[in-house]
Amino acid sequence: MSDYDTVSAEVEHEEEIPEDHPRYQDLLTRHRIENGVEKGITHLQGMHAEGRGSAFDYLLGEETIPSADEAERVAAAHLLLADQPVLSINGNVAALVPSEMVDLADATGADLEVNLFNRTPERIEAIASHLREHGAEDVKGLEADARIPRLDHQRAKVDADGIYDADVVVVPLEDGDRAEALEEMGKTEIVIDLNPLSRSPQVADVPVVDNIIRAVPNMTDHARDLADASEAELEEIVEAFERERALEAAEERIRNGL
Ligand code: ATP
Repeated sequence: MSDYDTVSAEVEHEEEIPEDHPRYQDLLTRHRIENGVEKGITHLQGMHAEGRGSAFDYLLGEETIPSADEAERVAAAHLLLADQPVLSINGNVAALVPSEMVDLADATGADLEVNLFNRTPERIEAIASHLREHGAEDVKGLEADARIPRLDHQRAKVDADGIYDADVVVVPLEDGDRAEALEEMGKTEIVIDLNPLSRSPQVADVPVVDNIIRAVPNMTDHARDLADASEAELEEIVEAFERERALEAAEERIRNGL
């Protein structure tokens, strides 16, 4: 049995994962998802999503590649320019980066909205309280009094004064149908997803091909760096971004290691 298996099987608290372990981030991620499932935050299907993500991250070299760092800065600029930015939270996001999402919301003035593929009142409430435990004051998504057009009833549910009205939305680890539907609503969509070929990053205005564990704190750092930038400077950053190049750079790294 490899060290990798041994550590993963024995860990009860994430502090027990040795930070110098060569697969530290992957072990931490797996541990948080397992915990999320146990707490009723993450759906069992979230484990499969995590497995897919982990394979792509391995091929990316488990680091934020330069094109992803640029996309994260552009995402921060969009959030700072937005009138009503919203960060969408699903079961994997809540399990992996709860306090990091709260920090990003604080740094950009964005709202947090729970938005689930497998929506049950219990999971919504479990995620909302998990976010509150990690410092969130206001959590949207509980009212679900509006619908995203052209999606089936359950997956369409959003808050009227949240995602429905938002001009800029961050949708990490989102399924392709919903990402497409949000795009059709005319929103500026920032997608965090490790697979550049997945439909969600393909339709995003800003595809961030990076592990959410690294992407979100980096977006917050960029937002803090840009806090005093003028609107013109932020707009310049946004306009210089080429989404196709970001997707190509990620695919190139995954396929050829370049
Ligand atoms: P799609 O519906 O967009 O065609 P899919 O069915 O593969 O793609 P889902 O299972 O709906 O996608 O969503 C999971 C996505 O999240 C995958 O593309 C996976 O690579 C990505 N993912 C999983 N874990 C992470 C993570 N920690 N950070 C970033 N992305 C991740």
